[in-house]
Amino acid sequence: MTTASASGYQSFTDEPEHVGLLRDTLKKFVTQKAPREKRREWDKAHQFPRDVFGQLAKLGICGLTIPEEHGGAGVDLVAAVAVIEELAQAGAFLAGPFIHAAFYGGANVVENGSEAQKAEMLPKLAAGEMFFAYGLSEPDVGGDLPSVTTKARMEGDEIVINGAKRWCTGADFADVIYCLVNSDPEGKKYKNLSVILVPTDTPGITLQPIEHANLRYTLSSDVYFDDVRVPASCVLGGAEKWNKGWGQLAGRTLDVEKIEITAVAFGLARAAVEEAWQYAQEREQFGRVISGHQAVRHALVDARTKLQACRHMLYHAVWLAQEGRPCSVETSMAKLFVGDTAVEIALTCQRVMGAYGLSDAYDMERNVRDILGMPIVGGSSNMQRNNIAARLGLPE
Ligand SMILES: Cc1cc2nc3c(=O)[nH]c(=O)nc-3n(C[C@H](O)[C@H](O)[C@H](O)COP(=O)(O)OP(=O)(O)OC[C@H]3O[C@@H](n4cnc5c(N)ncnc54)[C@H](O)[C@@H]3O)c2cc1C
Repeated sequence: MTTASASGYQSFTDEPEHVGLLRDTLKKFVTQKAPREKRREWDKAHQFPRDVFGQLAKLGICGLTIPEEHGGAGVDLVAAVAVIEELAQAGAFLAGPFIHAAFYGGANVVENGSEAQKAEMLPKLAAGEMFFAYGLSEPDVGGDLPSVTTKARMEGDEIVINGAKRWCTGADFADVIYCLVNSDPEGKKYKNLSVILVPTDTPGITLQPIEHANLRYTLSSDVYFDDVRVPASCVLGGAEKWNKGWGQLAGRTLDVEKIEITAVAFGLARAAVEEAWQYAQEREQFGRVISGHQAVRHALVDARTKLQACRHMLYHAVWLAQEGRPCSVETSMAKLFVGDTAVEIALTCQRVMGAYGLSDAYDMERNVRDILGMPIVGGSSNMQRNNIAARLGLPE
């Protein structure tokens, strides 16, 4: 049995009933547990509410990327993306930690983990009691990830790591850093990389938080690795996956990663549209609500129309991924289109709210800050353009 989307819009197909019910539950949760005044406090404090997230996790949502035999709810990417969309109505304060458990942790370990890693980590990730942080970027490495310079070498049955990661979001609260390292300095590019699952409490790790304007649900930090020693079993997939990290990072995992950040951009853009739409019906100027002025009406309708296009791009890409169909082009297109269009939507909606779109009495200014980062994080818009051109065989 199916129902129309609980968000009130028709998508290209009806959503499964369980996704609609999940949306209803999350809408209530967000309204009750993450009201606007709390969101403002969390933004200023640069942190998410651990207690509220603990209550949220009890709904079982972190298991939506994890098979039942490992303590999850069964892999249901459409539902997991709907969760991100609904949680993003409260900014990144709940959507962020959900992603650190269900996607950075769950989806990656399901796809590439060894049996021992799956047995140890997946039940905790499904329960929302374990979090991963991404240690990919470095001071001199952004989009060109295969050029990372953080080094790892095997010494007996131990790995020794030295180097620095940048922008490692959540290294302050996560249990594990999913760390991309150069594991063979003499090796060929792409064949010299490993992913190491580094416990954050390992001696030799230090953090230096970076002050930044967006995604303030936690800290993003420089992470320094100074002779950090972990067992060889910490290689993602086990020691036999040494120097096979690029395949792990760039395969299906990357498709799912693109979808997850696209869902954040879409959810935040929806929040911006809904806030401006409501505001325009309440604010009066020149003797009428501003939604009665044609220029404002048109701006709002344009924003909603673009949002609908984003919805189709996102959910089509998720559906392909859930069906196990090839979707590298579609996920890149969705990341590119939704990331860039979300910025247009947010700026339009902010303007509708005049001065109040810049005041912290509303969510708009925070949503704009967060959305501005969406074409950059998780593979910039230009990197998506490069991926699409290469995948479609466009000669250089
Ligand atoms: C709040 C925040 C949180 C973040 N969290 C994390 C995290 O948890 N883990 C993590 O690893 N990273 C994280 N990042 C880093 C993020 O993933 C990078 O910013 C992103 O990958 C882009 O890298 P860069 O900013 O160094 O840009 P660069 O790679 O230096 O690119 C700069 C500009 O040049 C363009 N460009 C570069 N190369 C090309 C090319 N070949 N063709 C065309 N254009 C090109 C880019 O599109 C961009 O516009 C975070 C960043 C922010 C702001």
